[in-house]
Amino acid sequence: MADTYFRKGFGLKGEIEGALVSDYHSALVEEVRSRGYELTSGDLTVRLAREFGFCYGVDRAVEYAYETRSKFPDKRIFLVGEIIHNPHVNAKLSTMGIVIVRRGELGEFDFAGVTADDVVIMPAFGVTKEAFDRLRGVGCVLVDTTCGSVLNVWKRVESYARDGFTSVIHGKYQHEETRATASQAGKFPGGHFIVVRDMGEARLLCEFIAHGGSAADLRQRFRVASSPDFEPERDLQRVGVANQTTMLSGESLAIAAELRGAMVARYGDVEAARRFRTFDTICSATQDRQDAVLRLLEDSVDVMVVIGGYNSSNTTHLAALCARRVPTFHVEDSGGIDPERGVIRHKPVGGHAEMETAGWLPATARVVGVTAGASTPNNKVGETIERVFATRGISDVGATLAG
Ligand code: SF4
Repeated sequence: MADTYFRKGFGLKGEIEGALVSDYHSALVEEVRSRGYELTSGDLTVRLAREFGFCYGVDRAVEYAYETRSKFPDKRIFLVGEIIHNPHVNAKLSTMGIVIVRRGELGEFDFAGVTADDVVIMPAFGVTKEAFDRLRGVGCVLVDTTCGSVLNVWKRVESYARDGFTSVIHGKYQHEETRATASQAGKFPGGHFIVVRDMGEARLLCEFIAHGGSAADLRQRFRVASSPDFEPERDLQRVGVANQTTMLSGESLAIAAELRGAMVARYGDVEAARRFRTFDTICSATQDRQDAVLRLLEDSVDVMVVIGGYNSSNTTHLAALCARRVPTFHVEDSGGIDPERGVIRHKPVGGHAEMETAGWLPATARVVGVTAGASTPNNKVGETIERVFATRGISDVGATLAG
């Protein structure tokens, strides 16, 4: 395994650093940071959250992908899905000849074209146990960029399964990380999981635990979000809570408390303590970004712009936090802002489709807050700031900096 499985980097940082800087760095962002995370020009101020953009896990995964290209210049290199949820970064890897493996019709990754001579990179959010086993079976070189914080959740789910507890995972079942996390329950015979998306779904479990109900209805409701032979009566007797690393921490904690309450209602305090476990597995980078945007909103902000992939869980949660306080526009990329037309292309919080909004930056707005999800590189943040100013008719932010 040692020669074909890598998860600690190749020590080639010196070789790839220049490429990373030129692909993702932003002088404007560094300047805004050095000015106290604030930039004013004309009658408009842009305030940047103090924690935003690439997290330690994404930094590491992207670096590792670049190192892999350097280490194996002549090999075919595949990537399982996306390295992170950012279209710009994935497109960059494609231009380096790294081929993205997509899901087949049945929802599983199609590794038919991968041979033992190839190299396969696994993304920051990891791959399912089944996908990992299939790739080991191929015998190719595996470069595993799974984030350490995701591995911590896996360890938690593994320990629940080993000890006969069903993992209740607060997350989005379709998200790669949650699929991979849930699959860890299968490392032990009889290991089970069920994924709840929000408090509403968690309450369905709580009701069943505390008062019983229709097992068939529950099975049907969670048919794609639970282990294949999940039996509510049997598998909700001992539960352990974990969460996708990028959920809203307040909601995860509330769900754990609600489940604990249901176990106490069913079994009483003493027995519930033996049947219920929980561990907050929100990663510190997600927490820091959520805390920072809440701090930003404590000062007066008229409009928020949140940058990040629409399928990026941590970005959508940042947008949700902001939308509770101020008009918020979640753009996938800086290109979503069209200064010429005064239009912004964005996805409304809770909506399913992208839309365009004209006049999004009214003349009365004086302060625009900006943050970005953990998979958004700084150059996209910098371009967004430029386009915000350009929408107000201030096209030369660089001159402001020089002054
Ligand atoms: S968001 Fe958290 S868990 Fe995900 S890659 Fe970043 S640091 Fe790791």
